[in-house]
Amino acid sequence: MPLPIVAIVGRPNVGKSTLVNRIAQIDEAIVHEMRGVTRDRSYHNADWNGVDFKLIDTGGIEVGSDDSFQGSITAQALEAARQADVIIFVVDGKVGINADDEEVARILRKAKKPVLLAANKMDSTKHEDELWEFYQLGLGDPWPVSAMHGHGTGDLLDEVVKHLRELEVVGGEDEVEAINVAIIGRPNAGKSSLTNRLTDNDRSIVSDVAGTTRDAIDTLVDHEGTLYRIVDTAGLRRKSQIDEDVEYYGFVRAMRAIDRADVALLVVDSSIGLTNEDQRVAGYAAERGCAMVIVLNKWDLVEGPDEKQKIRDRIADRMTFVGYAPVVAISALTGKKVQRIWDAVEEAFANYSQVIPTGKLNAFLTTIRESGHTVSKGKAILRMKYVTQTATKPPRFTFFCNRPDVVDDNYERYLENRLRAAFPLTGTPVRLRFKKKD
Ligand code: GDP
Ligand code: GDP
Repeated sequence: MPLPIVAIVGRPNVGKSTLVNRIAQIDEAIVHEMRGVTRDRSYHNADWNGVDFKLIDTGGIEVGSDDSFQGSITAQALEAARQADVIIFVVDGKVGINADDEEVARILRKAKKPVLLAANKMDSTKHEDELWEFYQLGLGDPWPVSAMHGHGTGDLLDEVVKHLRELEVVGGEDEVEAINVAIIGRPNAGKSSLTNRLTDNDRSIVSDVAGTTRDAIDTLVDHEGTLYRIVDTAGLRRKSQIDEDVEYYGFVRAMRAIDRADVALLVVDSSIGLTNEDQRVAGYAAERGCAMVIVLNKWDLVEGPDEKQKIRDRIADRMTFVGYAPVVAISALTGKKVQRIWDAVEEAFANYSQVIPTGKLNAFLTTIRESGHTVSKGKAILRMKYVTQTATKPPRFTFFCNRPDVVDDNYERYLENRLRAAFPLTGTPVRLRFKKKD
């Protein structure tokens, strides 16, 4: 079940990020695990009254440099109109409305999505009688809030959650048990072609187009006795009602597919090479902890061994944070080497969902101890007592030690590398935890 999306729209300086910071709960533990990866600050998980949702600050979304829409207010509004389940439109309650606000309102009125108009910077109630001005935006009653001080934000969130409940985008939904594989990558990388390859040669059981909270086309495939749900994020683009040319929403779609993926297939267009978007999407997948396979598609267009090596080197160089992801070069057009993707997906999923027995892990720990690598801080010397796997999908290992505070990034990286050398962890991220035990 993907999280419902609440988008925050508004022109610069009205207080969008302040509001996001107030609402969102940022998991610092995850930030820590993401060393070396630029975290995207525009997407946050949040919850209110037991309802989880994803909060997007559309003002902060960066898109491909070839996109003339970048950062424009119109793009934000379109983005929200297309992707969000509920939209919070923030205006400056002190300054009042301007032409940009009117333009956004015009788009949002057509969106057929619940829109809550938040008049921000209402730090005291004495200005609330000035709210009449905002009715002319045609979006109903304005909600006076102060993102800075928190006034009114609870009421606003109550209303958001009420809408989410009405939309029934929260709560359970029965899905067939299958391994979720998300096909992600920039427009034109070959996602649809690859999806066709992966689904054609096998028996596709169900193919359904998404409802309100879905933005990808799912196909269930039985591959050698295992059921896979292939989520093609390119699928819905061609069915969009809003604007055929605005491609940049792909990232949000990718994110949502990643949120429910076991394995992400990142499709890179080899004729273009790795892009910043590819890196961002990979970073997000790593952060969410899903397994990953990097697909170098259009390999038929790459000429000569030198060029091929260059592309592979660049991936190795710029994707170190997903260094565990196998790289498979294919041509979705000719079907060449596509079988290798299945092999890689199978292996990545097996590793991602495996449970390593505690006995083996502690035998591993013994070799670590014997290697004589000492870690210390001041007079304190780190002593590892034992280790056990405490979660799967992806695997998480908890090390019990005398001084968790002595563990630094370097040592964590060292342990991860040693773990990877000792156990089959290709394709999957791992999480390490350190707990105190005297
Ligand atoms: P954004 O560009 O829409 O993301 O706006 P920011 O969140 O960066 O806020 C712009 C400015 O407005 C900052 O100086 C904030 O401190 C200020 N601001 C945001 N919310 C409030 C509020 O509720 N009251 C007041 N007085 N200032 C606010
Ligand atoms: P999507 O936007 O990521 O779904 O990309 P498509 O699957 O629609 O492919 C975009 C274009 O690239 C189409 O014209 C495809 O025929 C072409 N294409 C896809 N895979 C390959 C490939 O492996 N080799 C070549 N030469 N072209 C490809």
